[in-house]
Amino acid sequence: MQSTYEPVIGLEVHVQLGTKTKLFSRSSTAFGNPANTQTDPVTLGLPGALPVLNRQAVILGIKASLALHCEVRNFSRFARKNYFYPDLPKGYQISQFDQPLAEHGWLEINVNGKTRRIGITRLHLEEDAGKTIHDGFRDSDRYSYVDLNRAGVPLAEIVSEPDIRSAEEAVAYLTELKQIMQFVGVSNCDMEKGQLRCDVNVSIRPRGREEFGTKVEVKNMNSFRFIQRALTFEIGRQAAVLEAGGTIPQQTRLYNVQTGETVAMRSKEEAHDYRYFPEPDLMPLIVSDEWKEEIRATMAELPAAKRKRFVEQYGLGEYDAGVLTLTQAMADYFEQVARKSGNAKAAANWVQGELVGALNAAGKSIEESPVAAEQLAELVRLIGDGTLSGKLAKEIFSKMFDSGRAAGEIVEAEGLKQISDQGELLKIIDGILADNQKQVETYRGGKTGVLGFFIGQVMKATRGQADPKVVNKLLREALG
Ligand code: ADP
Ligand code: MG
Repeated sequence: MQSTYEPVIGLEVHVQLGTKTKLFSRSSTAFGNPANTQTDPVTLGLPGALPVLNRQAVILGIKASLALHCEVRNFSRFARKNYFYPDLPKGYQISQFDQPLAEHGWLEINVNGKTRRIGITRLHLEEDAGKTIHDGFRDSDRYSYVDLNRAGVPLAEIVSEPDIRSAEEAVAYLTELKQIMQFVGVSNCDMEKGQLRCDVNVSIRPRGREEFGTKVEVKNMNSFRFIQRALTFEIGRQAAVLEAGGTIPQQTRLYNVQTGETVAMRSKEEAHDYRYFPEPDLMPLIVSDEWKEEIRATMAELPAAKRKRFVEQYGLGEYDAGVLTLTQAMADYFEQVARKSGNAKAAANWVQGELVGALNAAGKSIEESPVAAEQLAELVRLIGDGTLSGKLAKEIFSKMFDSGRAAGEIVEAEGLKQISDQGELLKIIDGILADNQKQVETYRGGKTGVLGFFIGQVMKATRGQADPKVVNKLLREALG
């Protein structure tokens, strides 16, 4: 049943740009090292220290912008966003404000078979803050620790238009965005390391009304599952308030993972005044059309283009194309198997079925697969040329996966070749008919259903290696 209210959602996503060093200094961006081992005068905000813009961060920002169909501005500018917090030593964050790196983009999502284009308002570059860790339970031993390893790490903030209309669409948008960033090499988007974080803005309005309701912002979410839950909760909460005749105040709220609820953090009145002004220590950022095109030329194929190509080039269904392009590594693996086996359909089935199943069971990623793409291609070829039946091939695949040995090697060593030689099979069939005269009479008496019994006997005698098609034909001839 459709609710009386329609959700309106806009997302602000922070993606960590995959550079080796920070946005304005040479300190490392590596994750997980001892606290405050990756700092320098710029990171620490020491007086007189000057920021120097990281060229690679700009390149990744431009790649991200182009991948999201944004217009990259020729002229953009950094700005100071002023606020006080212990993990922000300078007292301001260097961000971009009125002249961001890129604007006016979009990406497409597909939910319940419906494709929708979600607008992207802007993409700007900014530095991350440090981390504050609170510790201790009693007032007498309560401490807060500051770790500045993350301070100054480059981020792209990607702000969507309020075009999203459900929690499912929000997750679809994030999934697509994450995949795009990974494919073009902008970021690993490892959410456990905070490389993709999201502020969720949501309001509701009576269906059919054009005007938006008052939005609530849920801050700093780093799990798609929690984002979906927080949105579902928030949409329900707002509807209940309106139903009861209340109004929604503009608020920033936090999602409580334990309770699955959002709680008010601050209201509009308590909102920060960031006193933005142009960063005087940095030159404006100039991106020439030539540089932009140079960067565009180095960009990898986008997920949507790859899905489309897999459908057209390999004759796959949309669903299969989607599964096989979930990651770049999966797509590359499949393409190798398809090319080297010459059978894209079979390659698709084996990769999605047997291979992914075995990898999941073993807790391995496709990059760690004990069966290399060439090896799986060989197995597919051996089925194609009739050396192996599908059933034997599965048995051999599991041996390949466990041992890392090649298909041909296992077939040779264990004598597992499919038997299609008519002379050889006839000898076996003759023996079986002689031993089972009663069933032969039954068949000849018209109850041809016992054919299955004979096929089973031949399979048993050949340890499953007989070619079922040939056996079927020979048995019918011998019994007929
Ligand atoms: P603010 O100035 O409060 O940060 P913005 O206009 O920059 O607000 O929008 C921030 C995010 O909120 C954007 O992703 C935008 O799409 C979304 N948004 C704006 N208005 C609404 C609304 N009424 N309901 C839901 N989302 C909204
Ligand atoms: Mg904003």
